[in-house]
Amino acid sequence: MTIRTRFAPSPTGYLHIGGVRTALFSWAFARKHKGAFLLRIEDTDQARSTAESVNIILDGMHWVGLHYDNADNVVYQTRQFDRYKEVIAQLLEQGHAYHCYCSKEELEAMREKAEKEGTATYDRRWRPEPGKTLPPVPEGVEPVVRFKSPLEGNTVWHDLVKGEIAIPNEALDDLIIARADGTPTYNFCVVVDDHDMGITHVIRGDDHVNNTPKQINILKALGTTPPQYAHLPMILNEQGKKISKRSGDTVAITDFDAMGILPEAMLNYLARLGWAHGDDEFFTMPQFVEWFDLKDVSPSPSRMDMKKLLWINAEH
Ligand code: GLU
Repeated sequence: MTIRTRFAPSPTGYLHIGGVRTALFSWAFARKHKGAFLLRIEDTDQARSTAESVNIILDGMHWVGLHYDNADNVVYQTRQFDRYKEVIAQLLEQGHAYHCYCSKEELEAMREKAEKEGTATYDRRWRPEPGKTLPPVPEGVEPVVRFKSPLEGNTVWHDLVKGEIAIPNEALDDLIIARADGTPTYNFCVVVDDHDMGITHVIRGDDHVNNTPKQINILKALGTTPPQYAHLPMILNEQGKKISKRSGDTVAITDFDAMGILPEAMLNYLARLGWAHGDDEFFTMPQFVEWFDLKDVSPSPSRMDMKKLLWINAEH
């Protein structure tokens, strides 16, 4: 099997240092296994995505020297809408998805009830079941499309960083895969693209752990074997808080460039953030690729230490 990984940033701002570390690990894993490393721009949130941000990401990847193999054919989600529509039609036809006509008020009442009872938010009112009578279709309402999540058991995967994770299916909602205006939703687009791009290993931030069972179930409904997943813990600042520009942390890759940090020093530093190879402080990128293994990635968050980065930069 040829290993295929991807980096899938959303172009809604600058290229974040956490994103670059994710890209670095994904790149190293693909290179080590003589596989492919692909770039996908997740720009379906059209209100927040900008062309400027796409350029910042492309320039940032170029600056750090993480070359992707589909440079002539970068995947942009906004260009895949016909494909998403086709898969939604397929899921509806095969009975893996259904139309839901609930109003905002109905959904709000369900949300309040679910909060009290600690159950999945949507009560599956429109989910067709043998022997069940569905409510009358209201006039003039465009339905959303919901995915039929499994009702029993657990969704389980062996995370290559975090170990076995099991999520009870009763906690999963029948998630909306197409909105009333026909546009596909985030988790659905990720699934179709990972499938179509032949991704074998999804290496991404652990803020996506909650999305993984939803994505696995849709992939199974599509009749395909889900990829392997590796969720990387976040990077914290020196005070142990999530790094963010708002707390005064340097997080945009362009800011490091402006500070005179060399790309090699940056990669060397990022490689050691959550991954270790004995006591080696410095290594070349070919050495990193040779030594890299997901099993050596720490499952707990790592701390960013600016002093150390500046020290590595000075040593270079
Ligand atoms: N677009 C997502 C992000 O920027 C990444 C999704 C993924 O890797 O599956 O966080």
